[in-house]
Parts: sequence; C-alpha cells; structure tokens
Amino acid sequence: MKAEADPNLIVYFGGQYMPLGEARVGILTHALHYGTGVFEGIRAHWDEAQQELFVLRPLEHYERWKQNCGILRIVVPPSAEELCEITLELMRRNAFRTDVYVRPLAYKSAERVGVSTDDQDAFAVIALPFGDYLHADKGLHAGVSSWRRIEDNAIPARAKICGAYVNSALASDEARHCGFDEAIFLNESGHVAEGATCNIFMARKGKLITPAVTENALEGITRDSVMELAQRELGLQVVERAIDRSELYVCDELFFTGTAVGIAPVVRVDHRPVKDGAIGAITRGVQQLYFDAARGHMQTYLKWLLPVYRSRNTREQDAI
Ligand code: PMP
Repeated sequence: MKAEADPNLIVYFGGQYMPLGEARVGILTHALHYGTGVFEGIRAHWDEAQQELFVLRPLEHYERWKQNCGILRIVVPPSAEELCEITLELMRRNAFRTDVYVRPLAYKSAERVGVSTDDQDAFAVIALPFGDYLHADKGLHAGVSSWRRIEDNAIPARAKICGAYVNSALASDEARHCGFDEAIFLNESGHVAEGATCNIFMARKGKLITPAVTENALEGITRDSVMELAQRELGLQVVERAIDRSELYVCDELFFTGTAVGIAPVVRVDHRPVKDGAIGAITRGVQQLYFDAARGHMQTYLKWLLPVYRSRNTREQDAI
C-alpha cells in the first residue's frame, strides 16, 4: 500500500473516533507476533458530476469479514449494518471528496507471550484517500511465482487472515525483483489460484474462466461483481474451473480483479505476450462496466452502492 497515512485522519479504534496518530497497540499484542488478525478492504469512489462518494458493496464486505473472523474465532460485536454506519461516519468526519480505501481490521488483542488464543478481541476501521494500487493503464506484466499458494488445511486463503499475507508478501517481493508488476500463484496441485493480491480471469474462445474458490483463492467480491456484470451485461458465459499454468500462455485475454486493483488487464505473462499483447475487448468491456457501476452510473447496480452524503441528506429530510 503506497498511500502515506496522515496522522490527523480520523479512524475508529477501541469503540471511538480518534486521530490515526493516537490509535496505538502494545508491543506484546498477540496479532503482532502471531498474525492472528483478519482484515478487509473496501473501496469508495468519488463521482465528481454527482458530488457523491459511493461505498462499494460494504454490506457484503462486512458480512464476509465477520464470517472470516469466525474462522479464527474473533468476535466483532457490531452487525454488518452497524459497521456500514461506522464507515459512513468515518467518511463524513474526514470529509472525503476523493477515492477512498477502507481497511477494517479485527485481531487477537491480548498482550502476553504464548500462541494459544483467548477471547480478547479488538477491531478498528481505518479509511484513507487512495488512488490506483497497480498502474495498469497500459496493461501489466505478471509472473508465475515460485512460491505456492497456501493450502486451506494450513491457512485458509478464502479469508484475509493477516498471517496468510506473508505468502502474498513473499510472492509480491519476488515478482517486483524479477521485473513483474504482480505475481500469479499456483496451488499445490499446480493449478492457477490467483494473484498475490487479487483474483484472476482469463478469456478463451469467447468464455470467461476463473479458478473455483476451492483452488485456494480468496472469495473475492470484485470477482463476484465481474461474474454478474459479464453474464448480465455482456451475455458472456462465465466458467469456474481449474486453469493450467500453460493456459495462461495461450489464452486470449487475462485480467486481475480486486478491491484495490479494480479490473487490471494483464498483457504479458512470464515474458510472453497475452495474444497480441494489447488489452482485449472483453477486458475493456468489463473495466468500463465496473467503473460505471462503482460510480453510480448504472441504475441496475445502485443496489451495490452506499452513498455517503446523499444518505445523510435523505435521513435529515426524513426527520423533518
Ligand atoms: N485475492 C487476494 C489474495 C486478495 O488479497 C484480494 C483483495 N482483497 C482479492 C483476491 C480480491 O478480493 P476482493 O475483490 O474481495 O477485494
């Protein structure tokens, strides 16, 4: 994450709104030593024409977060709806008029030595102004990592478990050192799992194909949005199946999806051009639809959006 955090940003921590610079944890915190936290990533997009900030699928993100916290037996007391309210309040207190990334984090908070967990949990919600995560305008060069994706029976990849991100950090670091923009993980069966920080789609013979969530991939919400947009708006067949490494070299189009990366085209993989090395028509179509849906330009997908400023105005009017 490249955004510089302003210590005066207002965050939600310990049940209160406070400046980021005052939100501190102790050096013995369990999660810091053992990776026993679960985080989430949510985007909000600013639409200049409507002067509105739209939070994208916050309810689904908070539901996923609470479910995944359950894997580590971390309890986040507020409901998903209440967490959406906290998020809206954060946006307003920070008066954001730009694209924003929201980072909820729940963790084992006991300050003691010893790996076994107890029921001391804490959570925070941080919101930061945030632009592009990967600069993908001209398409990315991705490389298959020599690191394998973690197995569900070791650390479940479907959840954003803090400790599991060592796997992604190793792969990202290797990719950058090898001159790639992003890493592609294979799982222990040798099939494509996902990117280090994103899901992956390939187009072949007019179909969109993505690994099933049982291939050790995160159950991405952007992945889900793309599947719906591609089927409904582009009339494409979307197939969830195992993808061989060599299929990446013979596919027609390739792109990553994720809250931070958005829809990021891949034009080279392992030093081989994807098709003719240009961004393909399906990728461009999906990118445009996703952009329009996320900024409130498509009536059908307003159901995905929580407007930050309009919802307050509406409520104030309701109160009059
Ligand atoms: N895979 C991994 C490993 C990720 O970290 C992310 C980012 N959350 C994704 C996929 C994409 O998930 P989502 O679309 O829900 O952001």
